[in-house]
Amino acid sequence: MQAAPNGPTNPEWYEEGLPHIWLPYAQMKTASAPLAAVKTYGTTLELADGRTLTDGVAAWWTACHGYNHPHIRKAVETQLATMPHIMFGGTVHEPALRLASRLSAMLPGDLERVFFTDSGSVSVEVAMKMAIQYRLNKGQTKRTKMLAFKGGYHGDTLATMAVCDPEEGMHHLYGQALAKHIIAPLPQDEASTAEFYRLLKHHAHEITAIITEPLVQGAGGMLFHTPEVLRILRKAADEHDMLLILDEIFTGFGRTGTLFACEQAGIVPDIITLSKALTGGTMALAATVALRHVFEAFLSDNPEHALMHGPTFMANPLACACANASLDLFEQEPRLEQVQRIQAVLAETLEPCRALPGVKDVRTLGAIGVVELEKIANPDALRQRFIAQGVWIRPFRSIVYLTPAFTIMEQDLRKLTATIYRVLSEQT
Ligand SMILES: *Cc1c(COP(=O)(O)O)cnc(C)c1O
Repeated sequence: MQAAPNGPTNPEWYEEGLPHIWLPYAQMKTASAPLAAVKTYGTTLELADGRTLTDGVAAWWTACHGYNHPHIRKAVETQLATMPHIMFGGTVHEPALRLASRLSAMLPGDLERVFFTDSGSVSVEVAMKMAIQYRLNKGQTKRTKMLAFKGGYHGDTLATMAVCDPEEGMHHLYGQALAKHIIAPLPQDEASTAEFYRLLKHHAHEITAIITEPLVQGAGGMLFHTPEVLRILRKAADEHDMLLILDEIFTGFGRTGTLFACEQAGIVPDIITLSKALTGGTMALAATVALRHVFEAFLSDNPEHALMHGPTFMANPLACACANASLDLFEQEPRLEQVQRIQAVLAETLEPCRALPGVKDVRTLGAIGVVELEKIANPDALRQRFIAQGVWIRPFRSIVYLTPAFTIMEQDLRKLTATIYRVLSEQT
């Protein structure tokens, strides 16, 4: 790893502990040393050496109310004093049941059965298991595959890697070890639509579900598609008796301008997955929510028809208390209007980047702003230049993007976009 940027002021715990840490998505031999963070507030990260960074990423798209929101903190403190955790196998509790009924009420259609897990990847695995067993319980043993999409990302576990983009994704190395699913192009123009239908028809007898991220393929490079694409998928699923799984782990809770991205297409999936902003970025929690007819396929006198899944920390009361507090904030504060304002500022202030050399595209949707370059030779080095300018932005693939907290102050947002413009114009 390259020398720690914190210099001689590195705290003792950093020097002692770092040699024992394995960091995510990092070549540990050459990666820049991580920053020693000691405090967060609002949209600010404070480092051990006293520097502060304006956060443009919101902790991997989760901290939609900013950091340390007092309402969430109070909910956790209260829950911590009462009942931090119990097993969900045989006991239930108010935070989980209230959260389940609130999610059902917020989600479109009859999405009304909530299965809690503790990470996004696992919630996708549960959705896939539901879709597979949905067939098995009906005596259809051959339909075990998913139709997923190029550019897609659904998690890092073995089962979810198999429905990510096989070439572009981060997982092509594991190809041989993964289950085989059908990976199609999203039906966006004549050629891709023809190819999508060709694969759909050819494999229909073995496909149980279509799975996609609605409107934005996030980790695949913040690739946008229109609501019409989702309507095509819903129709195709209906025509071939397939389930439609929408992975709203990134898009859920306002990020694209509506509470859920599928609302913009006016469609309802059979299964939806939620995580990232579910707890306002405070604790690990995810949910897989099924339509009534999916759940009903598991109701039977045969014990083998039960869904055999149950994470140890399923429906953790602290995490559910966070999520309830986060939903309170969506009710009490004008989050969707804030997203509209963010979109307007992002569109206005990122647009000039289009004229910079090496810039391929500039795009915004809701509280997502993207500057796509022809190529970023060294995303890590680019990140260091942003850090030197006092902002926390994490370029990946060929994009520089912002997914700020919805509560970000306009001056901080303008600082982020101005810094992107400045740093990219000094690129050459
Ligand atoms: C982040 C993400 C996941 C994986 O969630 P983890 O909590 O990291 O396991 C899955 N799908 C989408 C769309 C995501 O953005």
